[in-house]
This record gives sequence, structure tokens and C-alpha cells, in this order.
Amino acid sequence: MIDQHLHTYFSFDSDAQFEDYLRQTTTPLVTTDHLELANPDDAGRDDMPDYAAYVAKLDRLHQQYPNQLLRGVEVGYYAPRAADLAAYVAAHDYDLVLLSVHHDGHHDYLDDSFKQADLQALVHTYYDKMLTAVQAVDYADVLAHFDYGLRIHSVTPAQLIAWAKPQLTQIFAAAVAKGLAFELNTKSMYIWGNAALYDLAIPWYQAAGGTKFTIGSDAHVTTLYRDHFAEASAQLQAHGVTHIVEYRHHQPTPCAL
Ligand SMILES: [Zn+2]
Repeated sequence: MIDQHLHTYFSFDSDAQFEDYLRQTTTPLVTTDHLELANPDDAGRDDMPDYAAYVAKLDRLHQQYPNQLLRGVEVGYYAPRAADLAAYVAAHDYDLVLLSVHHDGHHDYLDDSFKQADLQALVHTYYDKMLTAVQAVDYADVLAHFDYGLRIHSVTPAQLIAWAKPQLTQIFAAAVAKGLAFELNTKSMYIWGNAALYDLAIPWYQAAGGTKFTIGSDAHVTTLYRDHFAEASAQLQAHGVTHIVEYRHHQPTPCAL
């Protein structure tokens, strides 16, 4: 099973080396480095993977390792820069594109400043941005970490139902209409402690007609490669899911759990 959410030094916030992932596996490897424009976590800079250097690195690794090497990117949607994001993705050849909502133009949603916010209002605003992203984007394969904006907070399952079920129902309907898979982000689930929220969201996505799932560690250090994948697989199976999907040239192929 491919870990379909990984970062390397092509991301602004990681120093991870491809070789340290490749030493751990004989399966295909796909890295999904950040495309994050007007990034508040990087002084407002436009963080764009150096695609030419990325492909050159994959070509060199191909000479040294037997693994199939796939190309991926994690797009941080930010509405004011939607056209620039679309242009970047259109100009480069990828196997896998993740769609994320990380920041509001002022702060990343992991920033401490959000801890002062009214939690219900924050959840509503975050999912408003996510719905806009899903409706606007036509180039993504996977909706990544649906709970990113909730990670630093303690939103209970009862609160998610009360505050966000209608919005998430809309988001998942739009995601299914766009063909997006739902990501089980094991960092969110088992490091940030949101596994119970995924237990709610998985059947909501299924009720919207969604059948495609991926599992991603969101590793920024290579020790977290495929972190907690057995637990995530079991959690999917508890919802009647028998396969995840793996992306090549944006085409999903099933892989048994
Ligand atoms: Zn992310």
C-alpha cells in the first residue's frame, strides 16, 4: 500500500530525504510537497516545489532504487490565488494532486492565534473555505485531512455533528461530484487525536456516494513513513471498505486493504 501523503526537502517545512523513505520500502513512492501561495507560515512567500529539480532528482533515484517513483503535490487552496494555483498544476505533470486548506491568508490553521477564536465560528468558517475549494478546483485527486483546521482544537464528535454535518455533507457531495477520494490522514487521526472525527466523516462521505479512499501519513520526517497504517486500515474496514485507491497519472486503481 502506497503512503500517499509525504513531504521532502522540496517542501518549505521539511528536510526529509527521498533516500530515507526509499530505504524503508520496495513499494512505489510518491511525495506530495507543498504548493502554498502567500504562505503565512513562511513570511507570506509563494512556496512552489522546484519542479525541474524534483524531476531531475527522481530521475537520479530511478538509477539507484528499484521502486516506482511517482510525482505528487499538495495544493494549499487559497481563493485569492486560485488562478495561480491552477496554472502551476496545469503546467506540470503529476500522478497525484492533494487538495488542502491550510491558511486564511493571515495565519496557518495550526497557529496559536486561532486558539482564542470562538470554536463554533472557526469550524464554520473553515468548512466554508473548504467547500469553496472543492467547488472551485478541477485538478485535484484527493481531499486531504478534512480536519486540518480543527487539529489544534478539541472538537468532539457531538460538536462536529451539531456544528458541521450540513457543511460536510455539502463538501462531500461536491467532492464526489468532482471524483475526489477521501484521505485518512494518520497524523490527524493518531497524533492530533482526531480518529473519532474520521469515524463520523467516513460514513458521511460514503452516504454522498463516495467510494475512493487513500491513506497518508503526512510525514515531514522519514520516521513517520506509513505511521499507524494498520490502525487506519482497520478503521476503514470497520466501515465496510475493502480497498484503498492508488493514483498514477491521476487514475485511481484499487489496492486491497
Ligand atoms: Zn497538509
